[in-house]
Amino acid sequence: MGDEGKYTHCDVCGRRYEPGAPADGWLEVTVEGDGGYASPDFCSQAHAVRWFSESSLPLTAITIKAPTARDRLADIALALPFIAVAAFTLIGLWTVISWI
Ligand SMILES: [Zn+2]
Repeated sequence: MGDEGKYTHCDVCGRRYEPGAPADGWLEVTVEGDGGYASPDFCSQAHAVRWFSESSLPLTAITIKAPTARDRLADIALALPFIAVAAFTLIGLWTVISWI
C-alpha cells in the first residue's frame, strides 16, 4: 500500500520491519509534546497501546467549548450563500417549467 518504506522497527519489542514485507498491522504515530514531535513505529496496535500506557507524556484534558452567539452568527453567515443559491435554483427551475 506504499507504507512499506516508512517503518524501521517496533519501539516496544524492537522487532525489525523487513523491507518489502507487507505492512499489515504496522503503525506509525506522530506525538506532539513539549520537546517537539516524535514518530514511534509499532508492529501491532497492542504494542502501541502498551507504549502509550507506559509513556510519561503529559496528558492534558481536551475541553470542548460550547458554541457562542458569535459562532452561531458565523454559521448563519456561512449558510446564507448556500440558501441563496438553492433559492435562485428553484426560481430558475420554476421559470423554465412555466415557460415550457
Ligand atoms: Zn512490537
